[in-house]
Amino acid sequence: MIAENIKKIEAQLPSHVTLVAVSKTKPIHLLEEAYNGGQRFFGENRVNELVEKHEKLPKDIQWHMIGHLQSKKVKLIAPFISLIHGVDSFKLLSEINKQGLNNDRVIDCLLQFHIANEETKFGFSYEEVEELLDDPLFFELKNVRIVGVMGMATFTENSEQISNEFNLLATYFAKLSSNQFKFADYFKEISMGMSGDYQLAVEAGSTMVRVGSAIFGSR
Ligand SMILES: *Cc1c(COP(=O)(O)O)cnc(C)c1O
Repeated sequence: MIAENIKKIEAQLPSHVTLVAVSKTKPIHLLEEAYNGGQRFFGENRVNELVEKHEKLPKDIQWHMIGHLQSKKVKLIAPFISLIHGVDSFKLLSEINKQGLNNDRVIDCLLQFHIANEETKFGFSYEEVEELLDDPLFFELKNVRIVGVMGMATFTENSEQISNEFNLLATYFAKLSSNQFKFADYFKEISMGMSGDYQLAVEAGSTMVRVGSAIFGSR
């Protein structure tokens, strides 16, 4: 079942779009089913659960931290995490840098933008990101690498609104690509799209969709 779901979704995605299987709250055996079907990118939003699953599952899985991350928990995932999607403060970014240094590695991150018309979603405004990138302190962070942007659309049935929000994120990405990241070929990811809206996200230019319930069933 799960491998079938993954195949169906993959068939709808252009080849340059990465499918991140969001396995939060799901038991190990369901992740194994996805793994045996060829899935290698998994997303989790709780650090303790992520660490436990990393310990129990094959080591060629690329683990993505997709949810809100507390600074004090960064050290637990720093040795192995392959991408942190939800960077939404300078404080968090510098803690990731510190733990990257401790583990002698560079940790890939996405800057999370607030694109939804909801108070509760985390993320930067465009102005805040410009400020962060202009800050001389940012250039001292040698153990983090900003490889793109991430955002979540409003939880709504209104697909026009969702598309508008995804297009806004794509516009932010394009602006950063041609300015602050002009010579950074690694700056190439737009993480947007979940089970309910990944088609709209792909239309708007997503390079990475984070899909949970459409693969593993509802939570
Ligand atoms: C849970 C979650 C997803 C996946 O949601 P589904 O609707 O189950 O596909 C994607 N992104 C983030 C940040 C999440 O927390």
